[in-house]
Amino acid sequence: MRTFDYRRAVDHTQALSIAEAEHARYLGGGTNLVDLMRQNIESPAALVDVSRLKGTIENTAGGGLLIGAATRNSVVAANPVVRAHYPMLSRALLAGASAQIRNMATVGGNILQRTRCAYFYDVAGSRCNKREPGDGCDAIGGFNRYHAILGASGSCIATHPSDMCVALAALDATVHLVGPGGERKVPLIDFHNLPGETPQIETVLRPGELISAIELAPSAAAVNSAYRKVRDRSSYAFALVSVAAGLEVVDGKIKDVRIALGGVAAKPWRAVRAEEALRGETPARERFLEAAGAELAAARPFDGNAFKSELAKRTIAAILGELTGASA
Ligand code: SF4
Repeated sequence: MRTFDYRRAVDHTQALSIAEAEHARYLGGGTNLVDLMRQNIESPAALVDVSRLKGTIENTAGGGLLIGAATRNSVVAANPVVRAHYPMLSRALLAGASAQIRNMATVGGNILQRTRCAYFYDVAGSRCNKREPGDGCDAIGGFNRYHAILGASGSCIATHPSDMCVALAALDATVHLVGPGGERKVPLIDFHNLPGETPQIETVLRPGELISAIELAPSAAAVNSAYRKVRDRSSYAFALVSVAAGLEVVDGKIKDVRIALGGVAAKPWRAVRAEEALRGETPARERFLEAAGAELAAARPFDGNAFKSELAKRTIAAILGELTGASA
């Protein structure tokens, strides 16, 4: 049995000071980190529990929302302002995990959860560059139905498991950080790394830094938005492909469009090529499919997941059809 120290922080200042003094890892709801410790993938010497910090959802001066990192996923999903002004976020959260896990999981922990690649968790029997850099990757050439088709590398083809982060990417969310060097902000779409040659470096988080909040800006596209998740069973399963999308249509033309994909890359994948192809266009299923095709042209599937390209195209077209009524 591995032992570790456990301390509970009452505020960010205390959390930072404990983490610095004891080289501690931050513990949110524990719905991923505790699993990783049980599997001997991570073995921190100390944990500083930040899950009891106040979970808050506040209006910002600019008309958006500031969501505290300790806020539970179920609280965000049920918040009336989130449901009315950012429905894709509420729907993405409700598509994730189970009710029990959503009641425990925090916003900060959701962002920092690690891949569910089965080879990553198979400590005794599989090679994994993310777990042991330089070891190899048994998912390449193995069972890779759930793996990436965009942005992967010869070192790692894992996907990011979060539903919430897909919506946050489409919403242009900003991650607020506090750390030994002070406070800073990072756009969510820049927070997670693609694997390259260093798949073990998953985010731009610096040593000792803690996610303090997520900020959402207001927009018409966020109000007219949705989330669609395709998976092997109807609940408690990770996405094969998911799509978060929002649209603003003015005078019959697409003025603003936000699209992000989940289940296809090591980070939430913002579909910028598809968005560019759609701005100024008249909503129509053929346009949606063409734009999705432009995005998925960069896909590099493996033996077990070639279906994801077509699935992603059709899911993008379906959700845009739902939002515009142009589904025929
Ligand atoms: Fe490890 Fe990434 Fe390969 Fe999975 S895909 S075995 S996480 S290196």
